[in-house]
Amino acid sequence: KTLRVAIMGLGSYGTRVAEAIQSCQRTKLVGVISGTPSKVVAWREKYGIPEKNCYNYENFDAIKDNPDIDAVYVITPNALHKDQVIRVAKAGKHAICEKPMAVNAADGQAMVEACKAAGVHLLIGYRMHFEPNTLEVIRMRKAGEFGDIRFFQGLSGFTIGDPTQWRLDPKLSGGGAMMDIGIYSINGARYMIGEEPIWVTAQEVKTNPEKFKEGIDETITFQLGFPSGVIASCLSTYNMNNLDRFYLNGSKGWAEMQPSTGYGPIKGETNKGPLTEPIVTHQTVQMDEMAAIIFDGKKPEVPVDGEEGVKDMKIIDAIFKAVETGEKVLLNLS
Ligand code: NAD
Repeated sequence: KTLRVAIMGLGSYGTRVAEAIQSCQRTKLVGVISGTPSKVVAWREKYGIPEKNCYNYENFDAIKDNPDIDAVYVITPNALHKDQVIRVAKAGKHAICEKPMAVNAADGQAMVEACKAAGVHLLIGYRMHFEPNTLEVIRMRKAGEFGDIRFFQGLSGFTIGDPTQWRLDPKLSGGGAMMDIGIYSINGARYMIGEEPIWVTAQEVKTNPEKFKEGIDETITFQLGFPSGVIASCLSTYNMNNLDRFYLNGSKGWAEMQPSTGYGPIKGETNKGPLTEPIVTHQTVQMDEMAAIIFDGKKPEVPVDGEEGVKDMKIIDAIFKAVETGEKVLLNLS
């Protein structure tokens, strides 16, 4: 069965997803939700989208009565995800939502509950969970090829430009680098190590308070502690370029990936040699795998459901608390 998707938010990432869907086997772009009529015209022409599948932010609840759309992919600024996903759920459509799923764990949990109550799937756009080299490292770790895992390092960052963009407006972003890019090191620590963290410590540095206003973190270093004694040491920043690196160390081996979460190709090596899995377009694989999750009940190797998203939000909440208090914050993700 083909997953018929409408994209909400026709910005830069929405455009990337739309292009990637064109190569999908069982996902089709059939609709749009946008506040910009000129974009709707352009997308209709480019992708052959019928007018009856086009909505705006005021009227999209009417998607409820449209039998030709199965799911809505929410690709808007972070702080809008919660209400938009809940409206999608109430319209009886499956919700796919970009990371971060929300701006805090309580909002994320409300989204999970709304989708559960409506009997629809909530899936988060964690494209790395389907990336072949990433899955190979996870397979090797599970097979014991690195021995007992001892340490993970995640470095995630880029230098952000235009100071007027929504990513630097806390009302729309819910936070700075951590929400946007640091989340990759958080999520990566969890899937690379294969455990859930039990504590966090964190430190913030802000060199440009004019650009990075109150509520927008520029650079945060953070540490995560795991039940077996593994520690993760991570960096999230909007003020350094070319920062996209994972390193995993175990008693018998190691894995190193750089780039580790960019659009690819993901490159890396382990103590056994280079990672040589096929290079894929992440979003193409993600969408077809999501079709299989929704229609075939497929269980992905690393989950992409709402609960998975809430775990990352709980860790982000704890990191912000650790920065504020200077103290170690305990986590309970179960
Ligand atoms: P963008 O600014 O390019 O696009 C955002 C879109 O939302 C625009 O089309 C804009 O018109 C629309 N929008 C609707 N209501 C808005 C409002 N009130 N204010 C501002 N814009 C509004 O941003 P983007 O880079 O496409 O990011 C969108 C989402 O996708 C974010 O949650 C981001 O974290 C996520 N994202 C994920 C990845 C990934 O690799 N998974 C990559 C980039 C972005």
